[in-house]
Amino acid sequence: MRIPFNKPYLSGKELEYINEAVLNGKLSGDGVFTKKCHDYFKSKFGFKHCLLTTSCTDALEMSAILLDIKEGDEVIMPSYTFVSTANAFVLRGAKIIFVDSRSDHPGMDESQIEMLITPKTKAIVVVHYAGVSVDMNVVMDLATKHGVYVVEDAAQAIDSYYFEKPLGSIGHMAAFSFHETKNIQCGEGGMLVVNDDKFIKRAEIIREKGTNRSAFFRGEVDKYGWVDLGSSFLPSEITAAYLFGQLENLESIQKRRKDIWALYDSTFKLQSTDFNLPTPLIPEFASVNGHMYYLVCNDQHERAFLIDQLKKAGIYAVFHYLSLHVSTYYHQLHDGRDLINSDAYTDQLLRLPLYYEMTDSQVIEICDTVIKAIKNYRN
Ligand SMILES: *Cc1c(COP(=O)(O)O)cnc(C)c1O
Repeated sequence: MRIPFNKPYLSGKELEYINEAVLNGKLSGDGVFTKKCHDYFKSKFGFKHCLLTTSCTDALEMSAILLDIKEGDEVIMPSYTFVSTANAFVLRGAKIIFVDSRSDHPGMDESQIEMLITPKTKAIVVVHYAGVSVDMNVVMDLATKHGVYVVEDAAQAIDSYYFEKPLGSIGHMAAFSFHETKNIQCGEGGMLVVNDDKFIKRAEIIREKGTNRSAFFRGEVDKYGWVDLGSSFLPSEITAAYLFGQLENLESIQKRRKDIWALYDSTFKLQSTDFNLPTPLIPEFASVNGHMYYLVCNDQHERAFLIDQLKKAGIYAVFHYLSLHVSTYYHQLHDGRDLINSDAYTDQLLRLPLYYEMTDSQVIEICDTVIKAIKNYRN
């Protein structure tokens, strides 16, 4: 494709830092570059405890172990999300209670959460879709009222905010992704943020194969051994070195991505007087972090036509999630409620290319191609 959907961006010093990590002679996890990444996130976003992981999926699995999720526990989350959001909890035996998306936005409908809470509910997992915040005051109030935990799936939400609070700093814990399709990336990578102090000690143990090795390295215990459940969740220094190279350029990466997002949005809004194509709704409490630009088509046929027309023009646009409540794996376990908005986004949402190296003229070209195709289709 002439214009791919995504292109991972090399911001400058990643390879130099990998070289440095190799020369340091310590390539396993939790070395200098991992610490530099942790320190960066703490100082830039005020996150309390940061633990790099090998993926957001891993960070979510850690959160499920930390919350002691057991057979029969219920976990509430949107259906319109990536499989890992659910899988992490299903692996521990949870029953997933899916919430529909909002009619005006693919994010979860906060007003439908409370009626799904039962005595078995252990956690609410919010997903900040496209980096656009869920209404966290509503969710945190429910959590306090009903004594349940909140995990933020902040995979797409780096450098995004709920009012003035950075996403990832609000729930009891949060999971970020640095997969190559995300704003800041290292191929495969992630991070668990622990905001509630009572979880931090165990989080370190779970991440270190169920051992107290982290405490041992700090000199707090004189030998380390098997003390809890765990797995190998920490990335190597090579991964951390690459990630640190990206983090140093977070501001310029974010500026460019937000500019691209704004150019898409203003161009479509100018044209949409001719035809009614809904552009993304950003609630007043949320910010735009330039993760994703999407459009919502009238139906799946119109979307297929658009994808095809864009492809013919050398532009790769893609659809997104398939509702998890009707997935091959989970539909028999779902409680049967229809989730019409989630299904609508499954059929109608179209994501357009967005990556650092795109030029303004490419963005305009994509907008023109979309607008022409829609006019063709609707006439
Ligand atoms: C990308 C993504 C994940 C998975 O991230 P990995 O780092 O690939 O494990 C999970 N949830 C959401 C919402 C995502 O967008």
